[in-house]
Amino acid sequence: MVETQLAARGVRNPLVLEAMRKVPRHLFVPSIYQGAAYRDSPLPIGSGQTISQPFIVGLMTEILDISPGDHVLEIGAGSGYQAAILREIGGSVITIERLPEVARLARENLERAGISGVKVIIGDGTEGYPPAAPYNAILITAATPEVPEPLISQLDEGGRLVAPVGSRDIQQLVRLEKSGGRITRSTFGGVVFVPLLGRHGWEV
Ligand code: SAH
Repeated sequence: MVETQLAARGVRNPLVLEAMRKVPRHLFVPSIYQGAAYRDSPLPIGSGQTISQPFIVGLMTEILDISPGDHVLEIGAGSGYQAAILREIGGSVITIERLPEVARLARENLERAGISGVKVIIGDGTEGYPPAAPYNAILITAATPEVPEPLISQLDEGGRLVAPVGSRDIQQLVRLEKSGGRITRSTFGGVVFVPLLGRHGWEV
């Protein structure tokens, strides 16, 4: 997976490649999809949600540019796999999930994989998580019409935010960086994510 799907397509950061070599992806996919765990595709995880394609996880993590010790917030815990990768590279990780049954799944998967230091919170991630702000990096793993304002304000100086921004059907990866109180924005390729539903996302 790491060689043919990530490195071959341009994911270069050794920290990202190492983390994705280390975290057992098969522990984050439902048992009926065990045989497909390392395949080049997203997979259903129940409740109409998906675990992202490995390449997209690698690409987003690379663009997010996290360093050891970084305080990271993820919106959309899903299976918990992306949070596990973030934790492997960074410091403390908080991930927010709006569906309680999916949050439970993420907690179970993380525990099974022996990953500690990830806090799974149930709630509307479009509001961010003020009690633990500011964050060095924020990753939104659901499609949003625009980057929610509360998340931009919870970004620390020098912080980066990556999100799939666009319509419900197709989005572009967007990266924001906060520097000197100003935000610079860059865009990457097209992606397809399930919708971010909430106060500052799509209507529930
Ligand atoms: N990062 C996940 C994949 C995310 S799928 C993984 O590694 O498996 C997107 C998830 O975002 C879904 O579980 C969905 O329920 C959740 N979601 C959608 N809107 C949300 C919101 N406002 N706050 C938190 N989670 C949300």
